[in-house]
Amino acid sequence: MARIVQKYGGTSVGDVERIRKVAERIKAIRDEGNELVIVVSARAGVTNELIARAKALCANPSEREMDQLLSVGEQETIALTAMALHGVGADAVSYTGAQAGIFTDKVHTKAKIKTINAKPIEADLKAGKVVIVAGFQGINEEGQITTLGRGGSDLTAIALAAALKADKCEIYTDVDGVYTADPRVVKDAKKLQEISYDEMLELASSGSKVMQSRSVEFAAKYGVVFEVRSSFNYNPGTIVKQEIAYMEKVVVRGVAVDKDQAKVIVSNILDKPGSAAKVFRALADASIIVDMIVQNVGRNGIANLTFTVPLTDSAKAQKTLEPVLDAIGGGQVAIHENIAKLSVVGVGMKTHSGVAATLFQALADASINIELISTSEIKISVVIDKSKAEEAARVAHAAFELEKL
Ligand code: ASP
Ligand code: MG
Repeated sequence: MARIVQKYGGTSVGDVERIRKVAERIKAIRDEGNELVIVVSARAGVTNELIARAKALCANPSEREMDQLLSVGEQETIALTAMALHGVGADAVSYTGAQAGIFTDKVHTKAKIKTINAKPIEADLKAGKVVIVAGFQGINEEGQITTLGRGGSDLTAIALAAALKADKCEIYTDVDGVYTADPRVVKDAKKLQEISYDEMLELASSGSKVMQSRSVEFAAKYGVVFEVRSSFNYNPGTIVKQEIAYMEKVVVRGVAVDKDQAKVIVSNILDKPGSAAKVFRALADASIIVDMIVQNVGRNGIANLTFTVPLTDSAKAQKTLEPVLDAIGGGQVAIHENIAKLSVVGVGMKTHSGVAATLFQALADASINIELISTSEIKISVVIDKSKAEEAARVAHAAFELEKL
């Protein structure tokens, strides 16, 4: 007998037929004598639809009311999933986040989980019930409904697995696991058997989003080992954990492409203390996330700053920077949206040299120009022309022989 926490994402519970399939799957595992806690998302598209309705009625909806509204999506699926289980003859009970004892801080729309009172769930498990919990939501100390940020059902599952000391945590989605590259782009991309938390986080921040990053960070912090797998088949997925046995030999484990970035060039600014500080202070105050910063110092005390921002923030970046340039004595802002960020990720980079050289050579051989470069301990990212993004992913994947993983 094992205690298992499973999370089913929006496509896995997308309609009545899918919910029935999920219930059958749960029932079979239950009948093997396991204890099951099931976290579900809203049906695919429902959260976006609710947000659209809110925005149609009010340009800037109150965050408290947003939480009231968005928590509805998961409240639908918990009840339907419990009914589906009853329908196939399994005892089950559904809980909202509040009923499941998930207590958060006060921050509406992106609350953090503070504590979980697992007693009611423990009692139900002892009584042989399958417990269904609404993902993405909790309650704060004032009794208000909160939500945990987009994709937050993952976090609910990981946090429950930690609180309940589950033997297993499975994140069911519509892909088979974590791949060496996007299989739609790189035909011989391989599903990874295992990946470390750090690699998973770097891949997510580089554009291959399988899971909410916060939940991976939470899993790393509490040592929750989990598996990402598909609810549409019975294939084994990818295990995400701290250390990977065959890590030593593998230098690069994944290639990711992010087409949702824009390049900002701030040129002809005075090369004196404080210029960069003012530029980035203004961007930070406007909540714009900046990545891949490069500074070139030119002649005659003039410097250029180049960096990337999320594509959705590019117009905002331009607007934010224009007054700053006036204040620091001149300069120009130019935005280039025709770029993509290509990243190669692997913990093996910590101990191997030549990764950058291999990547740059592969891109050179394909006549792909590199515009910006940044590195971390386990990642190298380059900015390239957007039209070359797919080709770059393929040549990088081949250069590191990821099809052999
Ligand atoms: N329904 C929420 C969202 O779409 C939470 C989740 O799916 O994890 O962001
Ligand atoms: Mg989701």
